Amino acid sequence: MINYEILKKYPLCDRCFGRLYGKVLNTTNLVRGKSLKIAKAIEAEINKDEEMLKALSRSGVKEIRGVDEEVKECPWCKGIFNRMDKLLEEVLEKVKDYEFNTFLIGTHIPEEIKEFEEEIKTEYMESIKQEFGREFGKLLARTINKKPDKENPDIVIHINPYTEEIWLQVNPLFIKGRYRKLVRGIPQTRWLCGFCKGKGCVYCNFTGKKYLVSVEEIIGEPILKATKGKDYRFHGAGREDIDVRMLGNGRPFVIEIKEPRIRNINLKKLEEEINKDGRVEVLNLEFCRRKDKVIIKNVPHKKTYRALVYCEDEVSEEELKKLEEELKNREIYQRTPKRVLHRRADLVRVRKVYKVEANKVDRNHFELIIYCDGGLYIKELISGDEGRTKPSVSSILNKQCICKELDVIKVHDGETNGRNE
Ligand SMILES: [Zn+2]
Ligand SMILES: [Zn+2]
Repeated sequence: MINYEILKKYPLCDRCFGRLYGKVLNTTNLVRGKSLKIAKAIEAEINKDEEMLKALSRSGVKEIRGVDEEVKECPWCKGIFNRMDKLLEEVLEKVKDYEFNTFLIGTHIPEEIKEFEEEIKTEYMESIKQEFGREFGKLLARTINKKPDKENPDIVIHINPYTEEIWLQVNPLFIKGRYRKLVRGIPQTRWLCGFCKGKGCVYCNFTGKKYLVSVEEIIGEPILKATKGKDYRFHGAGREDIDVRMLGNGRPFVIEIKEPRIRNINLKKLEEEINKDGRVEVLNLEFCRRKDKVIIKNVPHKKTYRALVYCEDEVSEEELKKLEEELKNREIYQRTPKRVLHRRADLVRVRKVYKVEANKVDRNHFELIIYCDGGLYIKELISGDEGRTKPSVSSILNKQCICKELDVIKVHDGETNGRNE
């Protein structure tokens, strides 16, 4: 049942011998191993089993009378559990510059130890990786008064207890909110100069950028400063064109701060700080999880737009009434617009327009309020994009129209598209 023969081959320490049966009996590996060896030593003394007594002595049993072998280094743990305090000191030194609430220990075991473990394993065994991670985690949690967290640790402390290598994986901090873009001419994300790709050249006036500022930077830079992070990534629930304003209740976004040194920041104060900019505003900032980023990026929300339309000919009130009726609950077949073909696959998307309100402004201008699925290209809905969008405002009126100004005036949360491709 218990494989004592292994001790003749390998002088396993009490803790390691106990680990071979780690899943049996509710006690520690140390107590389990020590108890098993003592029981065996009693039996071996009665049976005068010299060979077993020597093996037990070599593996650290001191109580045997008349046998006193030199204790050999345990080939499984090689003393790593005796070095936990030293490793703890080094870990504390490494993490001292980072604020974190939860952590996880990532234990790395050398290949040869894994192979050794594979050779001696029993079906009741616990791995040394598991025990070290758990014990070191408990020690650290007690010392710094913070919780281990398997799901969403702020920081992962990687340790190879054999080589005593320690390295940190500082997980990103996620903050979600909504933004409003009050002016035209600002892209959502950082946009590098197309000639120099960010290095700086005469075309970009040595800034490396095609656009000097972006929604991402206006929001990200103050957060980066407050969290003392390394970098940031902006994830929007869709995006508006550079020349389109984002008004109303704002567009949801998640910002991801890489390797933050500070996590407990005052989001209300940060909101005020960002909003001093005046071009972009944020609201409802709150801490969130990685999964919110995935949701925000992948769930298309219905939107309401306001468009100022220019038409080459005069448009009558009657024609606008007809337009409202024709577009009500209308499926739009939209081939990828020519202007985005260089970065999107050429295919036909079906998006729905639910409701349109049209108001005449002057002889050649009217305003449209369009309530529709997310992902519908509004400029092309208006122009028709040379027949690539059907039907369109131009095709229904049979007059060429173009979108002169566009604003998103509402992102409808909790209302996903009626039909997706
Ligand atoms: Zn050992
Ligand atoms: Zn350049």
